[in-house]
Amino acid sequence: MAVPRILIVGGGYVGMYTALRLQRRLRRGEALVTVADLDSYMTYQPFLPEAAAGSIEARHVVVPLRRVLNKCQILSGRVTQVRLGDRKAEFTPHQGPDLTIDYDYLVVAPGSISRLLPVPGLAEHGIGFKTIEEAIALRNHVLGRLDIAASTPDPEVRRKALTFVFVGGGYAGVEALAELEDMAADALKYFEGLSHEDMRWILVEATDRILPEVGLDMGKWTVLQLRERGIEVRMGTLLKSAEGRRIVLSDGEEFDADTLVWTAGVKPNPLVGAGDLPLDKKGRIRVDPCLRVHDTGFAFAAGDCAAVPDLTRPGEFCPPNAQHAVRQARTLADNLLAALRGHSQRPYRHKYAGSVASLGLYKGVAQIYGRELRGFPAWFMHRTYHLTRMPTFNKKTRILMDWTLGLFFPREIISLGAIEEPRKEFTLSARS
Ligand SMILES: Cc1cc2nc3c(=O)[nH]c(=O)nc-3n(C[C@H](O)[C@H](O)[C@H](O)COP(=O)(O)OP(=O)(O)OC[C@H]3O[C@@H](n4cnc5c(N)ncnc54)[C@H](O)[C@@H]3O)c2cc1C
Repeated sequence: MAVPRILIVGGGYVGMYTALRLQRRLRRGEALVTVADLDSYMTYQPFLPEAAAGSIEARHVVVPLRRVLNKCQILSGRVTQVRLGDRKAEFTPHQGPDLTIDYDYLVVAPGSISRLLPVPGLAEHGIGFKTIEEAIALRNHVLGRLDIAASTPDPEVRRKALTFVFVGGGYAGVEALAELEDMAADALKYFEGLSHEDMRWILVEATDRILPEVGLDMGKWTVLQLRERGIEVRMGTLLKSAEGRRIVLSDGEEFDADTLVWTAGVKPNPLVGAGDLPLDKKGRIRVDPCLRVHDTGFAFAAGDCAAVPDLTRPGEFCPPNAQHAVRQARTLADNLLAALRGHSQRPYRHKYAGSVASLGLYKGVAQIYGRELRGFPAWFMHRTYHLTRMPTFNKKTRILMDWTLGLFFPREIISLGAIEEPRKEFTLSARS
């Protein structure tokens, strides 16, 4: 009899943890596991703000799939369609012809993408904050703006370079802004002629609160903290336009800014709509409490792309976050094994524990099991919690080393922005 093939689409939180558990629990020859991902690594997203701030080396917040999932087949490229009808998926490798992958069991976990609004100029001048590439590009960009501001006599150029706008007050936006502002404030001492007052950091949020993940009171406290640091928090405000890098806000204010970061929410990866997967009104895959795709016994989905019923809050669905994704992966792997072996499956149930957020070095905010923490204790908890969650002993150790070195040595303030154009100097030499 042919060995059953399990295809996992996406090697992020859900995909990697599911594959890891399957790899450990499958008996020899019981099934073949293939993981298809755009990248050859899993990104630990909660550490992206610290990677952007230079507190953690970029390579240490990603986990190489080929090393961790050494018993699985890893395919790097884009899955373009998933079909339940004939149990096939279309795959486009980074180079070479497309291929069709047959499967017996399927896990759909391509996560989410930034939810963009039709704001003029946003697609041209904005940047998201979901990938390691975006985080590092932003770090280089911010440090590069300090270089520009310190080297120009033109006050307009300087003002524009030192204006940083972040749209969206969830944890991705707040943490990214707070960490980068903290880094820039620290770096300023090496930039002669620039002072903290020259910089403008602005957080634009459409609703009347930020950081809903840590609760109302902690959200309000965070606003006060950010404002004390000179950060402008504009709530109940929308970005109307960013054409030509001219920022227009709904309160009527207009100014130029070289930096526009868009973190105003996510939506399910559009891949889930490219085949015959059943979707809900929000475009998420419909799954039952056992994480089976609606009306199937062989396909599973979880994480940011799926509408997973939250059994601790009847009628609601689990919010898209890592806390759920990692636990759903565990249930999903066990249920898939149960399906393979003809055993009964168990529903996913997890009561949201709360959230921790870092707001820069030694600064944080948290609400865990109803307990509120602020300042240093919250920051310490953020680091300890995420360090324990970071996959592999290797990465945990490297991150701990980064933090330890950071206690004794100043942060790096070099902008490696030119890394995005590595052939520039070579082409210039060829022309001269
Ligand atoms: C900056 C930031 C900070 C965060 N902080 C926290 C936090 O503190 N706490 C918390 O609980 N959550 C946090 N989150 C949210 C959390 O990271 C996500 O909810 C979680 O990653 C979702 O897991 P997932 O497996 O569904 O998706 P992901 O982890 O995003 O994985 C999706 C994978 O699918 C791959 N993929 C996408 N499209 C395709 C395709 N067409 N073909 C093949 N592969 C594809 C991607 O490359 C990716 O590897 C944060 C998110 C961000 C961006």
